[in-house]
Amino acid sequence: MEWFRKAKSGLVSQERKNIPEGLWTKCKSCGEIVYSKKMEQYLWVCPTCNFHFRIPSRKYISLLLDDGHLEEMDNKLASADPLKFKDSKKYPDRIKAANDKAGGTEGLITGLAKMGGIPVSFSIMDFAYIGGSMGSVIGEKVARSIERAIDKEIPLIIVSCSGGARMQEGVLALMQMAKTSGLLAVLSDKKVPFISILTNPTTGGVMASFASLGDVIIAEPKALLGFAGPRVIQQTIGQDLPEGFQSSEFLMEKGFLDKIVERRELRDTCISLLKYVWRG
Ligand SMILES: [Zn+2]
Repeated sequence: MEWFRKAKSGLVSQERKNIPEGLWTKCKSCGEIVYSKKMEQYLWVCPTCNFHFRIPSRKYISLLLDDGHLEEMDNKLASADPLKFKDSKKYPDRIKAANDKAGGTEGLITGLAKMGGIPVSFSIMDFAYIGGSMGSVIGEKVARSIERAIDKEIPLIIVSCSGGARMQEGVLALMQMAKTSGLLAVLSDKKVPFISILTNPTTGGVMASFASLGDVIIAEPKALLGFAGPRVIQQTIGQDLPEGFQSSEFLMEKGFLDKIVERRELRDTCISLLKYVWRG
């Protein structure tokens, strides 16, 4: 605990190299230094300020689904490079690096699962994969998960985390907004519920399409939610933005969200909602 006391008083820089990697975690919001095992117990929510750290998509799967189990589907889809796009890297090289880092998810894990015994079509975005950006593969995987919900008449759950549409695929990425939104209209006609869960951050084309079309929209606390980033908006309109702009709490106050739910209550809340709204 000597190290912990010094860490709090800012005396650790010379001794940091002696601390095993990952043993302690510094909160990005309040600066508190917390024992990583304790953070794991708290589901990576800061015990001091309630900041929700971003966690890998597979942790949400174990947290939300019955037995932590998802029957994964559509794993064979892979991004093409129709525009032969190159910035600091060629797009195929960027895809390969992202697949190596994120374990080949192509940015979204999807399949069938159960929540509280109720069968659901479940999808979760992976921010580690090129900033959770939506290219044509993510759009197609989301579309297929909606189609499964339509065909099997089971509720749809999508956990979003995204920086927006993937610029390397240009208009093909933007078209995914229309494709997914159109299918959600069919789902709505069938009166099958869609619960959209927004995590930090959910922005851009994802927020402007399926993420904001849930019958019930819930978000984790203090998540950044919006279309363009605050700096871009501020520069465009030439005005100061209100306090807390684009946070979950701000959107809740303006009527955009139905509920802000802490991570440890997400599963129980979803199950309660499903039992309340679903006939299945
Ligand atoms: Zn904190």
